[in-house]
Amino acid sequence: MSIETIIEDIKQKARKTWGGEEGERRAERVEAVIRKVLPNYAQVVGKSELEILEAIENLRTYSVVNYYQDANFPLLDDIKVYQTEDELREIVGKAGFRCPACEGVSSNPYECDAGVERDGVTCNWKAYGLFGTFGKGLRFTIVEKFMEIPKVDEIFMPVAMEQEGETA
Ligand SMILES: [Zn+2]
Repeated sequence: MSIETIIEDIKQKARKTWGGEEGERRAERVEAVIRKVLPNYAQVVGKSELEILEAIENLRTYSVVNYYQDANFPLLDDIKVYQTEDELREIVGKAGFRCPACEGVSSNPYECDAGVERDGVTCNWKAYGLFGTFGKGLRFTIVEKFMEIPKVDEIFMPVAMEQEGETA
């Protein structure tokens, strides 16, 4: 399949979610997201645009309209890009992660285990919940794993990176 065939197929799926003009608007919106990120992802990851598109479409488990949104597919210039998982591990070290809700230090980057209690409830904030990390977390992707897991990940901000004033 070519890029154009896949994009047309995705647009068709978007049109089917709603009739008439709104369906067409949705089709154009998903296409705009895809066309914006493909050249950027291909360049950063070192794969063809077709390979990238196939990888992200393969990972899709829900409606194209909800999946192909800017929030899910930021340009990789706007987030942290690591070549390997080890590279990120080294930076993070053993200092843990800052929970955006209780501001305690969690050893788990996705689920707060800092043990901070408020009103008798222990914080169990999750980086993948509805409100994410309030924009205080770390958004990143790992190049060596991108074709397998072509998405942007979001975790609590590593304490080791707080000095840099990282907010991406
Ligand atoms: Zn917490």
